[in-house]
Amino acid sequence: MIVPFQSGEEIHLVNKKGRTYRCTLKTGATFQFSGEAIPHDDLIGKEDGSEIALSRGTRFFIFRPTMADYTLHMPRGAQILYPKDLALIPMWADIYPGATVIEAGVGSGALTLCLLNAIGAKGRLYSYELREDFANRALKNIENRISPSPLGDRFFIQQKDIYEGIEEEDVDRIVLDLPEPHQVVPHAIEKLRAGGIFLAFLPTVPQIEILVRALQEARCFEQIETFETLLRPWNIDGRSVRPNLRMVAHSGFITTARRVKRLPKYRDENAALT
Ligand code: SAH
Repeated sequence: MIVPFQSGEEIHLVNKKGRTYRCTLKTGATFQFSGEAIPHDDLIGKEDGSEIALSRGTRFFIFRPTMADYTLHMPRGAQILYPKDLALIPMWADIYPGATVIEAGVGSGALTLCLLNAIGAKGRLYSYELREDFANRALKNIENRISPSPLGDRFFIQQKDIYEGIEEEDVDRIVLDLPEPHQVVPHAIEKLRAGGIFLAFLPTVPQIEILVRALQEARCFEQIETFETLLRPWNIDGRSVRPNLRMVAHSGFITTARRVKRLPKYRDENAALT
């Protein structure tokens, strides 16, 4: 679908060296570059991917930022999750259109945006964030990216400590990016439906050990798995075909678990569990 650029939109201008310059289109404004210029009015109405020429002929391609571009450059409070992990989380948490999902914490909202994409128009995302300033910034980042599509009946952000409990019932998925997800395990037992998925992103090994032990001891989860992902970009330039010299060596580990409902025999063994 071709949607021409509008005033108020952020666009990326990419030159032949591959450098990106960001700019928010505004009627009457001018984009300046190295003594050359182009009125925003000449960019408004153009299609994504168009080539444009500045006043003395320097050419750029203009692009609508992808979700990866947007999340990497949006204003941040907390550290965001990187695209390589954001790409995997919706698949491993099996977020589907129409799902009821709990998320915590929100941070700058990068993961929130991906979850909103995945739940579609009929899903519900309830996001918990401890810090009011982070929640406000995240909401701005989210609205900037998603507007004008309505959020009101599918996205609920609240300033709340998820370690104290989850209010929502019949939750399909719980997705966590905070330091002590094991503290959410008792609430997940209560609110996650059978077959539901618990996913946590954690940067260090001791955190995973504590979480996995909590999930195992709860005896309400199966398929408890942990993995990490390494993304190694390649340099392909003539005969120089090799991995890039630098890469992000570590971001974090993803742990997933499936909520199960045991036969009554097992339930009797431990009355606290359902
Ligand atoms: N996934 C986010 C980054 C999250 S950073 C992104 O992609 O942008 C971790 C966030 O968890 C921080 O904002 C922190 O304030 C929040 N947090 C930590 N403990 C919490 C708790 N108990 N309940 C809710 N939010 C919490």
